[in-house]
Amino acid sequence: PAGRIPLIAGNWKMNLDHQRATVVVQKLDWTLKDKRHDHAETEVAVIPPFTDIRSVQTLIDGDRLKLQLGAQDLSPYDSGAYTGDISGEFLAKLGCSYVIVGHSERRTIHQETDEIVNAKVKAALRHELTPILCVGEPLEVRKEGAQVAHIVAQLTAALDGIAAADVASLVVAYEPIWAIGTGEVATPDDAQEACAALRNTVADLYSGDVADQVRFLYGGSVKSGNVASIMAREDVDGALVGGASLDPAEFAAICRFKA
Ligand code: PEP
Repeated sequence: PAGRIPLIAGNWKMNLDHQRATVVVQKLDWTLKDKRHDHAETEVAVIPPFTDIRSVQTLIDGDRLKLQLGAQDLSPYDSGAYTGDISGEFLAKLGCSYVIVGHSERRTIHQETDEIVNAKVKAALRHELTPILCVGEPLEVRKEGAQVAHIVAQLTAALDGIAAADVASLVVAYEPIWAIGTGEVATPDDAQEACAALRNTVADLYSGDVADQVRFLYGGSVKSGNVASIMAREDVDGALVGGASLDPAEFAAICRFKA
């Protein structure tokens, strides 16, 4: 839509160790090559656990795979006494181009606030990583019909103090919490409503031109059987895929949603 290249990103979460990661990435690449997938037409990213990144990078570099690499989280800080945390600088050095920020599992399990999410977006941008900023409402909020206000507030907080030039390169994923890992996918109308509202928010905060450049993804129980109808909506520029990204044949079929 409007010149934005679709992005299909696979969030492996805490699945597949570094040995299994190389098998999955090779199978994914073979399947896409077999189907003559054009990466300039639809970008494909794999987002494995931190401990897999070096192995996957070696494979991508060594075999010249066209897959993009991302990480699932980063520290808001660049270095220092933050035991267990990972700097964006390290991720950039390992060939990551994307980093997920503010996934609902981080917000709930690790109590990440909007302020922490904002600091992480800034940390990613300092190291020329493209944040995949996640927003999404819990079921109670959806039942009240307050989903748009909820995600607009999350986006507005996450963008605090960020320059227009950086926002234009951003990826924002709408991931309703009730649809993540539940098999209950949002309707194409739900996805379009959310992505359009988020795009309008960027237009209000920055400009229409900036808003037209931001890619908005839908995430939540995306599969090969439902991806095409969601991707057909004008403000949906891609998908963030959890469970279905662990199976290379199924993930390749999602990446081939146009076929
Ligand atoms: C996710 O966690 O980013 C996600 C979309 O998960 P699933 O596809 O498994 O619902």
